[in-house]
Amino acid sequence: MSVPIGQMMSVLRHVAVQRLRGNRRYPLVLMLEPLFRCNLACAGCGKIQHPVEVLRRHLSPAECFRAVDECGAPIVAIPGGEPLLHPQIEEIIAGIVARKKYLYVCTNAIKLEEMLPRFTPSKYLAFSVHLDGLQREHDASVCRKGVYELAVAAIRVARQAGFRVTTNSTLFADAEPERCREFFDEVMDLGVEGMMVSPGYSYEKAPDQENFLSRERSHGLFREILREGGRRWKFNQSPVFLEFLKGNWDLECRPWGTPSYSLFGWQKPCYLLDDGYANSFAELMETTNWEGYGRASGNPKCQQCMAHCGYEPAAVEATFSSWRGFLRTAWLTLAGPPRQANTSPTRQPGQRPWQPEPRLPVLPVIDPVPAERVA
Ligand code: SF4
Ligand code: SF4
Repeated sequence: MSVPIGQMMSVLRHVAVQRLRGNRRYPLVLMLEPLFRCNLACAGCGKIQHPVEVLRRHLSPAECFRAVDECGAPIVAIPGGEPLLHPQIEEIIAGIVARKKYLYVCTNAIKLEEMLPRFTPSKYLAFSVHLDGLQREHDASVCRKGVYELAVAAIRVARQAGFRVTTNSTLFADAEPERCREFFDEVMDLGVEGMMVSPGYSYEKAPDQENFLSRERSHGLFREILREGGRRWKFNQSPVFLEFLKGNWDLECRPWGTPSYSLFGWQKPCYLLDDGYANSFAELMETTNWEGYGRASGNPKCQQCMAHCGYEPAAVEATFSSWRGFLRTAWLTLAGPPRQANTSPTRQPGQRPWQPEPRLPVLPVIDPVPAERVA
């Protein structure tokens, strides 16, 4: 795992304070979307289909800072659209860094190299570069040739200039495990701090509806990719989440852990779904029917989802909700994930669905939060 120690301590402090206050629903990462427009049009994107008058608009720095302060999460991510197209992005980044939030600016990196001189390296600032695979896969994923080379060049320049750089990768049903392993090797050779990986969510608005991963296929794919425990890959995410992707650790979605704020307000219930908006963070927490989301709810929109925005907070909760969870996470962090038998991601006809091996850490789905404990 590769999460900066300062960030870990900041999250630890935040969780401890929330638990001492009796809060069981609290934010960890604010997903701040100051604009929806982008200089790419990826087939799996669920963000750029808004009408042109919406794509032209953006949040002001003051609106961004108000959301950061209202939410109070120790980490802020600015996902797509493309944040570097925002005319005041320097001011937004500087303001969030000044608040000592760990900030991840998610970018397709087309403009990154050109814009780097406008930013100052900081332990609080990381550019999280969108890379969905090696050149062939990434250029196909973003529907434009040459983007992989541009992104890789920008990563090198950013690293040389002293910036923290991570990558974020979304995997789809056509991902080939061996190519993904080569891709992770190549990304580590670029000197990035860590990688983030997640299966793509089947956005209703995304043009390509055929290529999203089911849960079962996600388990097989990630077991195959991550089958060797001791490789030199570093992930900028919880080891529990990686075990969840492999099907070794069961979790229930915690959508309030990554609240999302955009031009429309606070999005219910998560970054992926669009079930209405609240005017304030407090209103979001109080008026969202949280029991209606996640796999256990039976909500069909949630049944195949394994996205990091719902399950990374669940992984953090699993770590800190018991000594057993904490010790198992510590072990995964220190010793690395267990070696795993090579498995085929595709189930043969008549073959039983894959089950976790008993020697691996399996925890029960965490019970829904009792309503009276909600902050
Ligand atoms: S780079 Fe990101 S925001 Fe832009 S189109 Fe692709 S997925 Fe959407
Ligand atoms: S499972 Fe959670 S993160 Fe996924 S769509 Fe449902 S509420 Fe959102």
